[in-house]
Amino acid sequence: MSIAVVRIGSSHTGDLAGTPLDGDALVLEDERIAWIGTSEEVRPADHRLVVDAAGAGVVPGFIDSHVHVTFGDYTPRQQTVGFLESYLHGGMTRAISASEVHVPGRPTDPAGVKALAVAAERCFRSYRPGGVTVHAGSVILEPGLTDADFAELRQAGVWLAKAGFGAFPDPMGYVPVVQAARQAGLVVMCHTGGGSIPGSQRAIGAEALLAMQPDVAGHVNGGPTAMSDEDNQRVVLEGGDMALQLVQAGNLRSAIDIAHLALEHHQEHRLLLASDTPTGTGMIPLALLRTMAELVSLGPLSPELALAAVTGSVARVYDLPAGRLALGAPADLLVLDAPVGSVAKDWKGALRLGDLPAVAVALTAGELRFARSRNTPPPSRPVTVVHPA
Ligand SMILES: [Zn+2]
Repeated sequence: MSIAVVRIGSSHTGDLAGTPLDGDALVLEDERIAWIGTSEEVRPADHRLVVDAAGAGVVPGFIDSHVHVTFGDYTPRQQTVGFLESYLHGGMTRAISASEVHVPGRPTDPAGVKALAVAAERCFRSYRPGGVTVHAGSVILEPGLTDADFAELRQAGVWLAKAGFGAFPDPMGYVPVVQAARQAGLVVMCHTGGGSIPGSQRAIGAEALLAMQPDVAGHVNGGPTAMSDEDNQRVVLEGGDMALQLVQAGNLRSAIDIAHLALEHHQEHRLLLASDTPTGTGMIPLALLRTMAELVSLGPLSPELALAAVTGSVARVYDLPAGRLALGAPADLLVLDAPVGSVAKDWKGALRLGDLPAVAVALTAGELRFARSRNTPPPSRPVTVVHPA
């Protein structure tokens, strides 16, 4: 049976303009958004649950495009169990793997990296920790992978690839492999900036990125070490459609610089906000909210643009049906508000002030996952969930 959400305040359907819903209520059924209209039209008795937003905002669930998943809801890097479920309490309803490079003893030969990607993709097909959808199985690009390997991977359901951790002596060595992966239909993210952990590759700057032309310049503000200001400018101006992924576990000064450049040159559609966690920087359940608040309060992003960069823009780059509030879209959404005690009036005002919005309610795949995040402060408004029956 369905779930209705009524008395919605400041909504955002996930596009760049932050277009609000055409109405102040919606109904979720069979894991989809089935109806959008006004609260007066909703009969509570027709629904299993009614979420009364009490004027708080409703937005699509956040999609984090840089999450270091391995297997299960466990990160070996920070030895933490249950991190994905905890990130849901920071608004992340969908995670995209940045490759399973943190698997202890991970393979580096072509047969091994292929097997790892296939296994990870399969393991998360129906496993939704806490209700989070995980797109796992990002093949780590290593020397020796051929066109036939990429065709085989695609056939097996793998559609993500990661450049930057392979045993290429020079970043330019990635160029033909990235092109072969893209040709086979994989979405390729490339490591950007200095090496992230001891033993990892040499720095990847603008020249190598522009030669590779990945779909996504991963942590383009450094992970955690940034490129030069000149390289930032080159990637924004000469990078074509390459997505510019700004991450929490990167360099904030560089993120602000790239956000300014993107806006100045009308490239805001290329901006994605992500966490790049769990990593050495930590396990950060509120990473996306923090990145949004930092780039709105200290940087040039509007709340609308920051929200698009964790919803609709990510969905566009990765060709996912999620990240938007529209009829037929996956029923992944959040009720957001100014946190209790904030001088802001709503979630947008909170971001402008640098306060983290409260995640009052999360619904994923059409199911209520919680009514009150355990990781954010409570909302200012009395958001409630009612069982009409
Ligand atoms: Zn990473």
